Amino acid sequence: GLKGTGHGALPPMLEQYVRLRDEVDAQLPNALLLFQCGDFYETFGEDAERAARLMGLTLTHKTSKDFSTPMAGLPVRAADAHIEKLLSQGVRVAVADQLEEPGTGLMDRKVTQLLTPGTVTEERLLSADENFLAAVATGDGYALALLDLSTGEFRCASFGTRSALYDDLSRWRAREVLLAPELGGNAALLADFQTRFPVMLSHTSFDEDAARAELLSVLGDLPASLSTPALIRACGAVLSYARGTQQGRLEMVRRVSRYEPGAQLRLNDWALRALEVFHPQHLHSVSESTLIGALSETRSAGGRRRLRSWLRAPLRDAVSIAARQGGVDALLRAGDLRHGLRALLYRAHDLERLAARVATRRAGPREVAALARTLELLPDAAALLEGQEGLLGSLRNRLGGLPDVVALIRAALIEDPPIRIGEGGLIREGFHAHLDELRGAALGHRGWIAELELSERQRSGIQSLKVGYNSVFGYYLEISSAHYSRVPADYQQVATLKDRARFTRPDLREREREIARLEGAADRLEAEVFNELRASLSQHAEALSEAAGAVSELDVLAALAEIAAERGWVRPITSDGPLRLTQARHPVVERSVGERFVPNDAELHHERRTLLITGPNMAGKSTYLRTVALCALLHQIGSFVPAERAELPLFDAIHTRIGASDDLAGGRSTFMVEMSELADILHGATGQSLVILDEVGRGTSTLDGQAIAQAALEGLHATGAYTLFATHYFELTRLEGQMPGLLNLHVAAEEEQNSLTFYHQVMPGAARHSYGVEVARLAGLPQGVTARAAQLLAGLNAHGDDGQLNRELAALDLNKLTPMGALELLQTWQRAARGEER
Ligand code: ADP
Repeated sequence: GLKGTGHGALPPMLEQYVRLRDEVDAQLPNALLLFQCGDFYETFGEDAERAARLMGLTLTHKTSKDFSTPMAGLPVRAADAHIEKLLSQGVRVAVADQLEEPGTGLMDRKVTQLLTPGTVTEERLLSADENFLAAVATGDGYALALLDLSTGEFRCASFGTRSALYDDLSRWRAREVLLAPELGGNAALLADFQTRFPVMLSHTSFDEDAARAELLSVLGDLPASLSTPALIRACGAVLSYARGTQQGRLEMVRRVSRYEPGAQLRLNDWALRALEVFHPQHLHSVSESTLIGALSETRSAGGRRRLRSWLRAPLRDAVSIAARQGGVDALLRAGDLRHGLRALLYRAHDLERLAARVATRRAGPREVAALARTLELLPDAAALLEGQEGLLGSLRNRLGGLPDVVALIRAALIEDPPIRIGEGGLIREGFHAHLDELRGAALGHRGWIAELELSERQRSGIQSLKVGYNSVFGYYLEISSAHYSRVPADYQQVATLKDRARFTRPDLREREREIARLEGAADRLEAEVFNELRASLSQHAEALSEAAGAVSELDVLAALAEIAAERGWVRPITSDGPLRLTQARHPVVERSVGERFVPNDAELHHERRTLLITGPNMAGKSTYLRTVALCALLHQIGSFVPAERAELPLFDAIHTRIGASDDLAGGRSTFMVEMSELADILHGATGQSLVILDEVGRGTSTLDGQAIAQAALEGLHATGAYTLFATHYFELTRLEGQMPGLLNLHVAAEEEQNSLTFYHQVMPGAARHSYGVEVARLAGLPQGVTARAAQLLAGLNAHGDDGQLNRELAALDLNKLTPMGALELLQTWQRAARGEER
């Protein structure tokens, strides 16, 4: 409600506000209401305080005779930027606009927009990426529905465990999550959700019968794939919530596809971050330092989104992977085809989003024109793809079937229409007879006026007589004061200026009224004709979205082919177990260091499934780990990989634990974060998983860390997962020989005259030591400090080798030891402990 002080009746405007506020609350509780007052959107009461905080607005007070309430406003013309900011902070927004021109008295206002982070479809408020609204229900595990209203993509899945559900919610980066009452009612679970996702609890119904009805009305039938009540409820809820924000228009949604979560490579949020798939790990890094940055050769907005979605959900079945690889391969070989296709894609507008806007009849004139321009490219693309087989062939087939649409738009709409409807100048001449008539008649009157100047000059004999126009008087005849005596008798004076006067005539007035009437009618008729055009376009929504999807996919395939061609990537072979990479490179680092990148080989199979990698800091251990993981990921999206030769199995998951990620998540210590990630990996890894661990155990004391690292290694070894483990615990290298399948590798570096040379070359065997002091020296630590560190280190090494002492102790046969022998041994050990020669 409205928070204010005072007892008197509310001023009428605030009464209206309270009424609209209640209306909004019924639909979208807690939405921030922007209330138009002339050139400003105002917020009142608690909303004003929230708005001031979230958008940095100045808080003032609306005060009347005996009432006062907080108020904060923002200019209407800056509204988009503010709304975007609110949505990105997870705030829902309602907009109430004035429906009348300002006059006297209270203006009529109406809620015109309900905007929520997961349901915006306004291009200006959307980023180019997917924008998913999610709903979660339970019953036999969890059911998830995901809907992107900007493209109409609608998918759902069932999950056995909550962590699998979390994986997919973050995989698809749901902007807004609706929880079924049974979930929202569980405080612990709710809290867990809220720390992970931008959850919005709402009054959305998850009622099963209502959900069935909703699905029937939107999709026309109830798909058999929605086989559980939980799936039906989640899908129905997502639609009913979306309907409320879209004024009922959900035509962009045509089908729901159920996917098998297990059918995709599992890649959780941590893995996406550690591998820098979408975001650089360090804030200061540029976006080029991500995998998506290195792959950004797509030419269209749809292609870019499709590539992101391939990266979020890599495949696990060899047939689909081979199909994509085949497409990339064909485009790689046929350079002309690839270049031709990419040149066309470059000119394509965002067809997926245009198709969605056409489906809901929301596309404006400019969008419809852009649609035509894009569709005109399709026959050329299809011609280029003539004769292609496999995936390219089937994509080609999806491009056809739309020439009618182009012809329809071209016949109706002018080449370069204005953004808005209702201002005229949209519809081509010759398209609509009555419209042409109205325009012709208006033009006739305008012609008469245009000739008036000449004819009146002749009639009056005043050569300087002028016909002019302004928005206050309309058309007028202007005569300078020198000629007042000759003003014709039928002129009526309407204005007097310093040295001239303006006149009109009844017939001029009449013509003017006619023009206004005819043009107004023409504008209204144009809007009608345009709406009819939109209606006929919406009949083609299905074919449009088919073609749009095909264009996006072609774009990704062509981009991957371009990359493979430009950077010398190879088509990986899908193996039934072993992983063999010859001269593999890191796709991102390769781009930044260029020629200087040192390629490396990698080999993993069951008898060689755990690689323990040691070497000084900065040697290239992380880069090597990531190279292997990224090649595996690229393989499973159907891409070629940066190597000379590659053979890769189909992994079920890539698990990572990289770096002591310094960002403290939710107040937990680095070590806690690290351990909970490790716990997840140990629970989730299977014999088909790839596990990348970098510096595990760093967040605690050396002995603890080392013990945990070893135990984790043993645990992973037992799962049979392929594990690459980079560590600075040299003790662990002793595991080689004890754990079958574990092998030591090191990254070569050479130390000479106080300096380290890195070769970035991965070699068999363990590193000699950690070179920590040398790296510190490289980093510019003062010479005195590094010298002292070296001295301390020598002492520690001497003391610290209690491993050797233990071994010697364990090996002692006390039955054979004489008292004298024992004393001698003790003396040796003591001298060793004091750092003296043994
Ligand atoms: P570590 O994990 O051993 O500390 P990183 O993998 O982080 O080392 O590598 C340190 C730096 O060395 C990287 O930023 C990169 O620029 C460079 N580097 C790593 N591997 C290679 C390589 N194979 N070829 C060329 N430069 C490399």
